[in-house]
Amino acid sequence: MTDHVPLTKRCIYCGQDKPESEFSFEHIWPDSLGGDHLPAFWQTDEVCARCNNVCGLFVDGAFIRSFAGMAERVADADRYQSLTNPRASPLAYTGRITAVPAPAGCVAEMWVGACGANMIHIRPRHDETWSGYVSGDPKAKKAAAGRVYIALTSKEMFWVNVALKSFLAHFKRSERFLINGAVQAAPGQRPIIATLDRNETAPEELVVIDAVLAAGRSGEVLKNELIVRTNPADRFLPKLGIALGYQLFGAPYLDTQYAQTLRRALWERDDAVRETLPVVGVGYFSSESRGLFGDILKWPAGWVLLIKRQKEKLMLSVVTPSGRGMQGLICNDPSLVAGLSPDHDEGTVWITVPPLSQAVGPIGLPDYLAHKLGNATSPHLTALEGQLIDPATLPACQ
Ligand SMILES: [Zn+2]
Repeated sequence: MTDHVPLTKRCIYCGQDKPESEFSFEHIWPDSLGGDHLPAFWQTDEVCARCNNVCGLFVDGAFIRSFAGMAERVADADRYQSLTNPRASPLAYTGRITAVPAPAGCVAEMWVGACGANMIHIRPRHDETWSGYVSGDPKAKKAAAGRVYIALTSKEMFWVNVALKSFLAHFKRSERFLINGAVQAAPGQRPIIATLDRNETAPEELVVIDAVLAAGRSGEVLKNELIVRTNPADRFLPKLGIALGYQLFGAPYLDTQYAQTLRRALWERDDAVRETLPVVGVGYFSSESRGLFGDILKWPAGWVLLIKRQKEKLMLSVVTPSGRGMQGLICNDPSLVAGLSPDHDEGTVWITVPPLSQAVGPIGLPDYLAHKLGNATSPHLTALEGQLIDPATLPACQ
């Protein structure tokens, strides 16, 4: 007779030994930023389900759902628009409406879509935990997702389509209303967007809606409040560093002093304490994040991920769709870094393009740069470029 010994393994994020059944599949680069299209190097099953959930919500989510993360999704997204089959586009978040009071217990937030379509989202106020998150608690159920109103600004059918598709794609769980117009329903069905009925709408909500409409007519910009976290990716970069270090060096990496520093930064919830940790990198809003390498490396609506050895250090660089460059040290252990293949001296690039649900890579950095400069062509990059359109060919907003 043999005793049944459950198989355990160690989670790379929390460092705890747990039964294999408590592990789940983790995309190191988040799915909403195109991570599900990257090759196996960017996937791991060495993360426990709890860390996977908690990191998705509080680490990746704190960046993706911040004002900065939302703004990045908008950059160049229309470069992949289709004239014959208009696609949903990401919406721009412009903050909480403060010019008029929101209904009691609620927050009124403003979004802008294609051709300036105005969207007013009125939802219950969530607790402080979610104050840096656009739209508040990402787990909010349908009832807590509130009501959202759209005012179209273009009569051009192409842009009406884009605005309505984007509105539906973004506000999946809210009750949705069209302020100026009507959406036809299929026979026997309720329309997917109801028409605003002023008699059925709470007066406190009409006050907010009318303030936005009046501002739109006068060309005035409503003063909104934006909650901007100064370091929206300060736990996200350490998380990426740990996972990539493990992918490249295996278990010995997790015992290095710097991996342990990254783990402390990943789990430290107090911003002030985290800032005292010796984490090496360039954050999203750092003055170095503009111009350093972003203009050379950026890709339309893409996230460019670069891993490169610089002397005795292995660095991760992330170039955002708007061209900001973030950077994080992965490993500075000389014996581990020295053991890497010489390919890492040149640097390796991956690109995700969320509007296309596509990713390209690995590509050597010299090949990527040669393609960008027109000195050589990479077939995968040419294929991505083939899907770009000239925005001047899209109909004018009318
Ligand atoms: Zn874990």
